[in-house]
Amino acid sequence: MEQTQPFTIAGEAIAPGSARDVAFPITTLVTGTPSALSIRVLHGPRPGPAVFVSAAIHGDEIIGTAIIQRLAQQIDPQTLSGTVLLVPVANIFGFMTRSRYLPDRRDLNRSFPGSAGGSLAGQLAHVFYREVVERCTLGIDIHSAAIHRYNLPQIRIAAGNKRLVELAMAFGAPVIFESPLRDGSLRDQAHKHGVDMLLLEAGEALRFDRLSIETGVAGVGRVLAHLGMIAADDGLATVGIPARANRSVWVRSPRGGVAHIVRESGAGVRKGDLLARVSGLFGEAAAEMVSPVDGIIIGHATLPVVHQGDALFHIAEIPHPERVGARIESITDAILASEPEGLAEALLDEDEVV
Ligand SMILES: [Zn+2]
Repeated sequence: MEQTQPFTIAGEAIAPGSARDVAFPITTLVTGTPSALSIRVLHGPRPGPAVFVSAAIHGDEIIGTAIIQRLAQQIDPQTLSGTVLLVPVANIFGFMTRSRYLPDRRDLNRSFPGSAGGSLAGQLAHVFYREVVERCTLGIDIHSAAIHRYNLPQIRIAAGNKRLVELAMAFGAPVIFESPLRDGSLRDQAHKHGVDMLLLEAGEALRFDRLSIETGVAGVGRVLAHLGMIAADDGLATVGIPARANRSVWVRSPRGGVAHIVRESGAGVRKGDLLARVSGLFGEAAAEMVSPVDGIIIGHATLPVVHQGDALFHIAEIPHPERVGARIESITDAILASEPEGLAEALLDEDEVV
């Protein structure tokens, strides 16, 4: 068996076959308490790629934190080929205040690559980028919808990258969406430096839901298996083929009022299909919202109190929506039918892997 070298990070040498938690000091809080970016490094005894999994770059998008908690319990560094870096909370400040942003009101995901002498967001982005992203060849970054919104679990990748399509297929989320890269985003910066990125969008801000967590845990596991980093079947032979899209539309409420949603994320819709009725306080003057395209609902608002112009549905344009909708249902059913794994126990398990 080929022996790997220790993995050096934060001035510590992590021996092959072991795991270690390291912390990078970021700043002193206004209270004077030091704050740090926490990373778990799992370093295998056999050579292989380095992959990071990160969550809560937007501090209130905590679904990835739950996914990483499960991965931290499940990945065994003694049987790993390569190295996995887990970052359960990238935006430590927004996580504390249940906010998407940092205390300086900046968006961490628009602050890459950042700099050591920049704003607080810039400094955090700089440390995260230099210590985590640049050390890896692949990253899986986990987001959720904004507050009061739900996203069907979906993988977003840069357009036209065959390797990413292959990895996204291995991930096995119900939908793969090829979307443009935003300036200053982690994906944009990683792309410029040849680090492949999968972005998982799943669930709702400040909430946990089982479909999102199971999709994330199984998906990361299948990608690691596909890369030969863990000895498991990547499930490609059995997993349903995800729906693929590269165009989407937002459907906005035509009036303020109370929305009664008729269809939710995951449903296939034809142009003209009823999505919701929005009425006045007595239920009067209901305005019907219909789908402007054939497609799959990949996100919807969960808050029924709406203003005129609020985006209530996000629909990926896909031909044959009935067929694809049925396939998505079979994928989500299969994910939910997987061993529940005692979610609460796993999250409360205080035993360390090391
Ligand atoms: Zn986000």
